[in-house]
Amino acid sequence: KLPKIAFIGLGNMGAPMAHNLLKAGFSVSVFDLVQTAMDNLQQAGATAANSAADVVQGADVVISMLPAGKHVESLYIGENGLINQLKAGTLVIDSSTIDASTSITVANKLAEKNIYFIDAPVSGGVSGAMAGTLTFIVGGDEQDYATALPILQAMGKNIFHAGDHGAGQVAKICNNMLLSVLMLGTSEALQMAIDNGLDPKVMSDIMLQSSGRNWTLELYNPCPDVMPNVPSSNDYQGGFMVDLMKKDLGLAMDAGLKSQSLTPMGALAQSLYNIHSQQGNGQLDFSSIFNLFSKQEK
Ligand code: NAD
Repeated sequence: KLPKIAFIGLGNMGAPMAHNLLKAGFSVSVFDLVQTAMDNLQQAGATAANSAADVVQGADVVISMLPAGKHVESLYIGENGLINQLKAGTLVIDSSTIDASTSITVANKLAEKNIYFIDAPVSGGVSGAMAGTLTFIVGGDEQDYATALPILQAMGKNIFHAGDHGAGQVAKICNNMLLSVLMLGTSEALQMAIDNGLDPKVMSDIMLQSSGRNWTLELYNPCPDVMPNVPSSNDYQGGFMVDLMKKDLGLAMDAGLKSQSLTPMGALAQSLYNIHSQQGNGQLDFSSIFNLFSKQEK
C-alpha cells in the first residue's frame, strides 16, 4: 500500500512536486499559508487542509518545501509544532534549502519522539520540479533514505545519499555556491560579447561547444530570448528568486567559516547578489544578475 503523504509549502517548487506525487498515484493532502496555492492541486485530486496540524492527520510521510530554516524549525519544533501532532514512525522529508545545523536540530528533536527525519534538498529548478527530474541530495539514516526513495523517485531522477543528517544541505549549498559563480561568469562573458557587437545567441552556441560550457548555458541562459521557456525570456519571472540565491550564499559563507574553507569566489558572488537584491531585484529570477552587467541598465 502506498504511504499517505502530507505536503507543506506549495510555492514555485512545492506545487509541481506535489503534482508529480499525485500523478504517481500517491494520496496527497496539501497545505500552504497562501490559500490560492492549493487550488490547482485540489483540482488535480489533492485534499486541501486549513492548517499544518490538519494536513498531517493520518499521514505516513510529511514533505516540506519552505523558504528558510526558521520556517522549518517553527513548523516542526516551534510552539504548536508538528512534533506534537505526528505519530511515532512518521517519516519527515524536508526538501527546503536550509542550514545544516537547523536540519540536525530538527532531526534530533523529532527523534526523541521516534519521528524520522531526512534532509532532502533539491537541485534542478522549477523546470526540473515540473518534469519530475529533480536531483535529491539526502542526509540521514540509510533506512529512512530507503523508505523515502520510491517517493523521491516520483519527483526526481537522480537521488543521492550524501551522508548523515545535514549532509544533504552541505552538498546542496556547495552546489549552489558554484551555480552562482557560473551564472555570474556566464552573464559577464555574454554581456562583453554583446558590447563588442556579437549576437548573444551565436556567442552562446560558441561557448556551448567550447571550454566555457556550463549548466547555465545549456539549460538556463541569462540573456533574454536566447532560449525559450526560461525566466530570462519571460521578464525573469518564476524560477529561482534572487533573494533565495542570496539566502543560499549566506548559508554557504556560514558553512565555509565553520569549516575554515577558502571561498573567495563565493564571497564575491554573495556581494554581487546582495547589490542586485538591494537594487530592487530580490523577487526576480537569479539569472536577472545578467542586467548588473548591461550598459543600458546602468
Ligand atoms: P517559494 O517562496 O515559491 O515557496 C515557498 C512556499 O512556502 C510559499 O508558497 C509559502 O506560502 C509557503 N510557506 C511558508 N511558510 C509556510 C508555513 N509555515 N506553512 C505552510 N506554507 C508555508 O519558494 P520555492 O522557490 O518553492 O523554494 C522553496 C525552497 O526550495 C527554498 O528553500 C529554496 O531555496 C529551495 N529551492 C528552490 C529552487 C527554485 O528553483 N525555486 C530550486 C532548488 C531549491
